[in-house]
Amino acid sequence: MEEKKYNLIIIGAGPAGSMAAKTAAESGLSVLMVESRLQIGVPVQCAEGVSKKQLDKLIDVKPEHISKKIKGFEIYSPDKTKVFVGGNGYVLERKIFDRWLAEKAIEAGAEIMIDAKAIGLIKNEKDIAVKIKSSEKEYNLSADIVIGADGPASVVGKWAGINTDLNPSDIMICQQFIAAGIENLDCAECYMGNEIAPAGYAWVFPKSTQEVNAGIGVTGGKGIGSPKKYFIDFKKKYPLLFESTVIDGKGGAVPVRRPLKSLVGDGVAFVGDAALQVNPIHGGGIGAGMRAGIILGEVAREAIAKRDVTAKGLWSYNTRYLSNFGKRLAALEIFRRLLQSVSDEELNYGFEKRILEAGDLMAANKGDGFSLSPIEKLKRVQRGAGKLSLLLKIQKTASLMKKMSKAYAAYPSNSAGLDAWEKKVLGFIEDANFE
Ligand SMILES: Cc1cc2nc3c(=O)[nH]c(=O)nc-3n(C[C@H](O)[C@H](O)[C@H](O)COP(=O)(O)OP(=O)(O)OC[C@H]3O[C@@H](n4cnc5c(N)ncnc54)[C@H](O)[C@@H]3O)c2cc1C
Repeated sequence: MEEKKYNLIIIGAGPAGSMAAKTAAESGLSVLMVESRLQIGVPVQCAEGVSKKQLDKLIDVKPEHISKKIKGFEIYSPDKTKVFVGGNGYVLERKIFDRWLAEKAIEAGAEIMIDAKAIGLIKNEKDIAVKIKSSEKEYNLSADIVIGADGPASVVGKWAGINTDLNPSDIMICQQFIAAGIENLDCAECYMGNEIAPAGYAWVFPKSTQEVNAGIGVTGGKGIGSPKKYFIDFKKKYPLLFESTVIDGKGGAVPVRRPLKSLVGDGVAFVGDAALQVNPIHGGGIGAGMRAGIILGEVAREAIAKRDVTAKGLWSYNTRYLSNFGKRLAALEIFRRLLQSVSDEELNYGFEKRILEAGDLMAANKGDGFSLSPIEKLKRVQRGAGKLSLLLKIQKTASLMKKMSKAYAAYPSNSAGLDAWEKKVLGFIEDANFE
C-alpha cells in the first residue's frame, strides 16, 4: 500500500460509506475506504427490508441484490390486528448488495483496504492522518477529510473530540434470524407490543418462498432483557414460525433517535448509523444513510474545491441533509416516544376505536407530523371517550412533530446558531416525555 495522501479516507464500507465514496470518486476526488471486515457485508446484521420507492431513487438496484420483492409492509397491533399496510419494498440480499455498492465505488476510482481497522486519528497542521492496522502492518495515512461511516458503534467522533454518546434508551438492541421451512409470504410483517418486544417490535420478512429474515428489536437499556429470549417466545406464538428451523442468527444494534446535531467537524464528517441517520420508528437506516452518503460526497468535492475543509466549509452537508430528510427522522423520534409510552392495552384500544389511525402512521412516517382538524378531534373524542389521556398524548405528539420538523427546516446556516437551535430541539424532546 503506497502511503500517499487522499482527499477522503472513509472509515467503513457499509452502504453509507460506499455511497459517499462512489459520489466523491465520480467527481474526481482521491478516495480510500478502510473496512475492518474480511468480506464486505458479512455477517449480515439486518432485516434487509427497504422501501422500493426510496431505494429506486438512490440506485439502480439489480435483481441479484434482491432476495424478494414484497407487496407491502404490514403492521400489527399487540392483539395481532393488521392496522397498516405500507407500499412496495424489497428484502435485499445484503451480502451481495453491500459488496456491489463497494464495487461501484471502486469502479468510480475509489481504493479500498479490507481487513484493515482504523484505530485512531492524528490531527496535523494541514490534514488528518488515520492510524490503520491491517493483518500485515500498521499505516498512518493522511487525508483532507476523514469520514466516519463506521456504523452503530462509531468511534470516529470520539477520536475527533466530538461527543457522540447515546442514551441507552435511544439504541435498539436486535437479534436477527434466518428461518427456513416457511410458507410463502408476500408482505413484510411487523408486530408491535411490549409483551412481544418491549419498546420495540418483531419482524418477519420473506427472503424466498421458504425462508424468512425474522427477529426482535428491543429498546430501553439495561434490564430490558435479551432480544434472543423474546424471539424464542415470539416463535412459539407466531403460527408461521412453529415448524420453521432457525439456520442462522446474529445480534446487532441500531440507533433510534434524531441524527447528530452536527454531521461535521474540522476535517471530519459522519454518515449512516455513525451519524444516527436511521428511522427511529423501525430502525431502517440503509436508505437514510445512502441518501446522506450522496450529499456528503458532493459537499466534500465542493469543500475541497474551495480549499476549506473546516466545519464551516463542510456545513452545507448539515443544511442539505438535516433540514430536509433529517427533519423527518427527528420528528419520528417524537412518534417513537409516543409509541413507547403507551401500554399494549392502550395501543389496541387506540387502533380499535380509531383514536390512532393508519393515516396518522403514514403521515408521521413522511415526517411532517399529522394534523387533527377540530372536527376530526371531536370525532376521535367521541370514539375514544374511555381513553381521553391517549387522545391527549396523540394530539401532543402531532403538535410536537410539527414543531420539530419546523425547527429542522430552519437548521442554522452556520455554527453560531447551533447552541440555541439545539436548546430548542432538546426542549421538544423533553416535552415528548409522555409518562
Ligand atoms: C438486526 C438489525 C436489523 C435491521 N434491519 C434493517 C432493515 O430492515 N432495513 C434497513 O434499512 N435498516 C435496517 N437496519 C439498520 C441498517 O443495518 C443500518 O442502518 C445500515 O447498515 C447502516 O449502514 P452504514 O453504512 O451506516 O453502517 P454499517 O452497515 O454498519 O457499516 C459500517 C461498516 O464499518 C465497518 N467498521 C466499523 N468500525 C471500523 C473501523 N474501526 N475500521 C474499519 N471499518 C470499520 C464495519 O465493519 C461495517 O462494515 C437493521 C439493523 C439491525 C442491527
